[in-house]
Amino acid sequence: MLLQSSHSSPSALMDLPVTSARLLDGKALAEQILTTLQREVAEKMATGLPAPGLATILVGHDPASHIYVRNKRRACEKVGMTNIHHELDKAYGQTALLRLIAQLNADPSVHGILVQLPLPKGCDYDENEILAAIDPNKDADGFHPFNQGALMQGRKAPVPCTPKGIMRLLDECGLQLKGLHAVVVGRSNIVGKPVALLLLERHLTVTICHSRTRDLAAEVGRADIVVAAVGVPELVRGAWIKKGAVVLDVGINRNTEGKLVGDVEFHAAAARASWITPVPGGVGPMTIAMLLQNTFEAYNR
Ligand code: NAD
Repeated sequence: MLLQSSHSSPSALMDLPVTSARLLDGKALAEQILTTLQREVAEKMATGLPAPGLATILVGHDPASHIYVRNKRRACEKVGMTNIHHELDKAYGQTALLRLIAQLNADPSVHGILVQLPLPKGCDYDENEILAAIDPNKDADGFHPFNQGALMQGRKAPVPCTPKGIMRLLDECGLQLKGLHAVVVGRSNIVGKPVALLLLERHLTVTICHSRTRDLAAEVGRADIVVAAVGVPELVRGAWIKKGAVVLDVGINRNTEGKLVGDVEFHAAAARASWITPVPGGVGPMTIAMLLQNTFEAYNR
């Protein structure tokens, strides 16, 4: 981890004189996780077992989705997992996609299946039906309704990758999380809601904010932990952050100058926070590491 701070101990979170946040370096942590996975995969294969396999399905030509899938496939290669990739025209169709998923469900060399979202608009794809068609045991993204239900009930099941990565980053701060107040900005099924459930599971008090929240600044200002998952460049202003809070920025946005920025005004927030994730290099790389971890866990099951 890259450290930049005036703190002596991260455990007494709220009363410390903060001059500059410690950077939660997701890129470095993800690298460590991938290196460990690489060793564990090699150990399995040395016993004569086949390599773990992740199937990736990419439909259409969305440039961002192409970059995300390319990075996931590269990480697969790095750790020695097999990648079975299907790149499909946007007109491929719901029925054909369901048939492909059924084939992958039945294929013993496939341990994890990922359908890159969003599916192309205007082509009658039903994302919910597609996600529900994936064998819950091979659900590398943790989006199957069965697994989402398990998360709600606090049962063990594949956990969505971004929320899982956020919790792993939070653990790096070494804080006593119990009883702290977390504010999650964004209520999507893939980030906001599942991360709120994971925080609840760890005994935090959780507030979920969204586009209709009346006074976002006031809500964020009460947070010991802020998770921003909105998709609006620098929506969360640095001045809103309570001194000593931990800030986890999920957003990946281009600002008006074309620069990659998060949902949080980084420099101003870093001047008040105790820990903060950068964009890029924070939550993003952790999402990929958790995808491969989910695949490896499915392989071990
Ligand atoms: P989404 O569009 O599904 O949901 C956005 C949420 O933000 C909604 O719940 C909405 O109510 C809320 N919102 C919108 N405007 C708001 C406002 N003004 N104030 C408060 N809340 C507001 O988005 P998502 O899929 O959860 O993604 C959010 C961001 O995270 C995007 O930038 C996305 O690219 C990024 N993302 C990053 C990763 C990663 O690995 N780093 C993974 C998934 C998503």
